[in-house]
Amino acid sequence: MTDFRSEVIAAGGEGITACYQCGTCSGGCPTVSAMDYTPRQIIRMVNLGMRDRVLSSRTIWLCATCYQCQVRCPREVKITEVMAALKSIAMREGYNSHVARPRAVSFYRSFNEIVSNLGRQFEPLLLMKTALGSREGITSKLGYLLRSAPFGIALMKKGKLPFRPEKISGRDEVRRIFENVARMEAGE
Ligand code: SF4
Ligand code: SF4
Repeated sequence: MTDFRSEVIAAGGEGITACYQCGTCSGGCPTVSAMDYTPRQIIRMVNLGMRDRVLSSRTIWLCATCYQCQVRCPREVKITEVMAALKSIAMREGYNSHVARPRAVSFYRSFNEIVSNLGRQFEPLLLMKTALGSREGITSKLGYLLRSAPFGIALMKKGKLPFRPEKISGRDEVRRIFENVARMEAGE
């Protein structure tokens, strides 16, 4: 078994060796048209140990974690978990410089930081942190924020976005989960 495949399995990508390349995962994926490799191809490439090409791909960042592929896979491959594992490895190893979508890494990092601190998501802050933390120039950052503003305002008017973060009980527990995961990833 390739080292890369073992690493992905250890990170949650169970069942990957059972894939028989039927393509059901790709056929139902809502974001496949924007991907450079289909989910089926990514599974194959992981099995072949094509580490650099997989970790450099747009696909892993465009996976919307919808689980459509995973629930339909006839071989019970944990495809969504494979995508999550690949994102995690790519972020850890600095593959963000290869990412064709410059805000992807910033989005995931910001998402985790906010949930870790507040116990749940706060979308206006997520938008700001994603833009400011991306590796784009200031003009692109501002353009992204301006383009996003009308959507945010429309959602707020319909009561779908809060003006301020909601406090939840158990925030300390959520933070401890993130701290434990960080320790596990560091091999402590
Ligand atoms: S649906 Fe499952 S078995 Fe079919 S290609 Fe995708 S991962 Fe492989
Ligand atoms: S979980 Fe990701 S790869 Fe699977 S169908 Fe949804 S977007 Fe596509």
